[in-house]
Order: sequence, then structure tokens, then C-alpha cells
Amino acid sequence: MTRIKDALDAVAAAIIAQKDYLCSLDAKTGDGDHGLNMARGFSAVRDAVDEMADTTKPGPVLETIGQTLIENVGGAAGPLYGTGFLKAAQACDDDTSMNIKSFEKLLGAAINGIQARGRAEKGDKTMLDVLIPIHQCFQPENTEGKSLFAVLEEASHAAKAGVDYTKTIAAKKGRASLVGERSIGYEDPGAVSSMLMYRALYAFLKK
Ligand code: ADP
Ligand code: MG
Repeated sequence: MTRIKDALDAVAAAIIAQKDYLCSLDAKTGDGDHGLNMARGFSAVRDAVDEMADTTKPGPVLETIGQTLIENVGGAAGPLYGTGFLKAAQACDDDTSMNIKSFEKLLGAAINGIQARGRAEKGDKTMLDVLIPIHQCFQPENTEGKSLFAVLEEASHAAKAGVDYTKTIAAKKGRASLVGERSIGYEDPGAVSSMLMYRALYAFLKK
């Protein structure tokens, strides 16, 4: 089965395609390198996963993604995303089936890892302002009677709403916190890269 690897390739392609856009966003409130960092990271990830003998189980693939991002990406976001993927890998068990519960579990583990490392909360204008609302969509109180695809679609809207929310607030974490209030009016680049990754995965799964 190559499906996991194909999903990753779709995510990597989306990030690499938006390299310049992510850099232009980061140039408004940071140092303009977010797209470069992410594109470098995901092309290294693609190479590392290409070299894996067995990509049929999500755990080892997620672990390779996490490790590769940590090793290859400077800047704040690479190690944070890397930690998220590593924690998601650790949350995988032998049940590889994809369902609302497994999305909830893996996303929750990733967010906990990102928060343990970066100490940011919702409302600090970071990737978490997209990841936390996505995760919320998969929680039992919001999924009653819904299909996986209905929830995936809701989460796609939640991701965009999260990006829009980051425009309205001042950065409290990371490099953008240096410009503080002057970051209001601009989208957070990490929030946008999180939305792009999620939407690429969703588009892939919908096919
Ligand atoms: P750097 O800020 O070192 O140049 P990047 O430009 O690659 O790194 O990444 C910036 C993004 O990282 C921000 O847009 C934000 O979403 C995210 N980020 C920064 N600090 C944190 C943190 N403590 N927790 C979560 N995300 C963070
Ligand atoms: Mg930057």
C-alpha cells in the first residue's frame, strides 16, 4: 500500500508550491523565511520517506517525518512541527484504520507536543490557532452522528477560520512577538502552513 506515502507527497507538494507565499507572509511580521524552512523540510522529508523500505504503517512514517523536520529545519516552526509529528507517531498503535477517533488522538498528541515545546496557547497567533480548532472538530461532542468526511470538511472550514482569526490578534510567541501589536492585520505564516498541510491531506483523502 502506497497510500500513506502518496498522502505525504500531496502535503509536501502543497507546502513546496506555496514556498514564496509563506515567505511573503513571514516577511510582514518576521524574517521572511517560513516558506524556505518548510519547503526545505518537506523536500528532505520526501527523500527520507522515499528511502523507507516499508511505508504501510503510519507510525514509522510519522516518525521519519518528525525526525527529518527536526534535523533539517532551522527556525521555530520546523522543530515544533517535527515534535508534533513525533508525538503523533508515538500515539499510533497497531490499529491503522483511519477514523474520527484516530484523527482526534493523533492531532491531540501532536498539539500537546507542540505546546510542551513552544509554550504557546490558543490566541498567541501561531500554528496552534489553526491546529487546535481542527482538533476540536474531531472531539466527541462535535462528531455525534457525523461521518468522517463530514468532520474532515468541517475541520477544513475551521482551519480557514483559524487563519482569519490570526489576522485579528497580536503575536505573543515567536519572532512575530517582537513586532507585537504591529502584527495585527497579518495572517500568521505558521497558521497558514498548518491550514495548507491539513487541506492538502483533506483534498487527497477526498479523491
Ligand atoms: P522563525 O520564526 O524562527 O523564523 P519560521 O518563520 O519558520 O521560524 O516559523 C514561524 C512560525 O512558527 C510562526 O508563524 C508561528 O506559527 C510558529 N511559532 C513560533 N513560535 C511558536 C511557538 N512557541 N509555538 C507554536 N508555534 C510557534
Ligand atoms: Mg521566520
